[in-house]
Amino acid sequence: MRATGIHLSFGSNHVLRGVDLDAPAGTTTAVIGPSGSGKSTLLRVLNRLIEPDRGDLTLDGESVLGANPDAYRQRIGMVFQQFNLFPHMTVGDNVALALRKLRGLDKERAREAARRQLDRVGLAHRVGARPSALSGGQQQRVAIARALAMEPELMLFDEATSALDPELVKGVLALMSDLASSGMTMVVVTHEMGFARSVADAVTFMDAGIVVETGTPRQVFGEPRTDRLRQFLSDVL
Ligand code: ADP
Ligand code: MG
Repeated sequence: MRATGIHLSFGSNHVLRGVDLDAPAGTTTAVIGPSGSGKSTLLRVLNRLIEPDRGDLTLDGESVLGANPDAYRQRIGMVFQQFNLFPHMTVGDNVALALRKLRGLDKERAREAARRQLDRVGLAHRVGARPSALSGGQQQRVAIARALAMEPELMLFDEATSALDPELVKGVLALMSDLASSGMTMVVVTHEMGFARSVADAVTFMDAGIVVETGTPRQVFGEPRTDRLRQFLSDVL
């Protein structure tokens, strides 16, 4: 996935000011930066939940902005800070729902596929449980399974561990790390600098709607070139 020259305003608030992001297939890109710098907005643009005012998006080398956003969105999995599982449905049905509604799988095949994805995140044994019976970390792993069930080409994570109790963060990061190792293309907005440093292939630092620096973890964490990044790192590390 590549985003080029993305501009977006909310009214008079110019939130994205010419953002370029290159997330080559099979790699993990971590996006870091202070609160309000436009990270979530950028992910929503990448997923076409919002259309940019200017700029281009390509996936697999093809420009995607003209095409039907619904079809495009099916190629992309997104995981939010809030898991947004349906509380009245079982874990299995949460994962199976999109397969039935969007892919037209029958009940049995959707259930099988859901169980496979839940197995992948270590939760096959909770297929019949309600989300509320699970820990926050388990619920987030279900949300990841739900996204994976659609076999996305790209996974976007927006602070997927920020709402979790500290002891539950590790399990979700471990799953994301496994996913990265498996060759999934991922763009991960995160405050977990350890994850960015050890799992990401590239790290992008945003501030005030622009990409201030981008590079390998070693470059971004070890040799920051700007005062803004140095200041940010000293605040968070
Ligand atoms: P981050 O995720 O880096 O904290 P956001 O992308 O959430 O930053 O927000 C960037 C800026 O865009 C903020 O000034 C925020 O108030 C503004 N913003 C985000 N979403 C909306 C919206 N739906 N309507 C208006 N302003 C928004
Ligand atoms: Mg955000």
